[in-house]
Amino acid sequence: MKSYYNSFFSKLDNKDYIDFFSNYLRDLGFDYRKFLKLDYKSKQEPCKDKKLLLEKLREEIGDCKRCDLYKTRTNIVFGVGNPCSRIMFIGEAPGEEEDLRGEPFVGRAGRLLDKMLESIGLSRRENVYIANVLKSRPPDNKISLCPESIPKCLPFLLKQIEIISPKIICCLGSVAVNALLKQNEQITKIRGKIYDYNGITLIPTYHPSYLLRNPIAKKEAWEDFKKIKILLKRLEEEENV
Ligand code: SF4
Repeated sequence: MKSYYNSFFSKLDNKDYIDFFSNYLRDLGFDYRKFLKLDYKSKQEPCKDKKLLLEKLREEIGDCKRCDLYKTRTNIVFGVGNPCSRIMFIGEAPGEEEDLRGEPFVGRAGRLLDKMLESIGLSRRENVYIANVLKSRPPDNKISLCPESIPKCLPFLLKQIEIISPKIICCLGSVAVNALLKQNEQITKIRGKIYDYNGITLIPTYHPSYLLRNPIAKKEAWEDFKKIKILLKRLEEEENV
């Protein structure tokens, strides 16, 4: 009998366990989910919804020709990561490798970002969402040459933020901060401060490309990432209360 139960339960994943016992207890007239305030579905469903909403938004963007950048891009670079992340990282625009692969931050700067994320226990596939202000690559990566593209593309990013509804946004470089806060400041002036964007904590830091050119600034970026780690830990503790 014991081996029968062992083989039965070994075939079940976490969710199956919860559903199995939940149904069994409910049949006995006892809804343990209410009692324990543990609802597997309520935690999983919003993620599924967010994923669907992001897919719908991507469909809406389609083969976008709303600004001239469509003429030179290879792929639209929409975003990557977990739609249920507590934190979003927002950069400026895709570079050459991103344009070719259709994923943000996959070049040298992206590899540096991955290392920085890893240093505070984050990973692009698991617990962050990464996107850019512009979804198409500006020629020669010069975002300054296409200022008219930002107002045309920004609504897509704003929609992504609305869907994901992160608790923290980390802006990588001044373009992202300025686009969200509707200002025009240099990153050297605003990093180190914490802002509020519609109730979301906004932390500006250097773009990884800047850090590759100015390695001395890595120390300050590390301070920003440590701050993010502390805020995320606090959020996790609050959620577990
Ligand atoms: S940058 Fe944005 S608005 Fe311009 S073509 Fe690409 S997706 Fe469309």
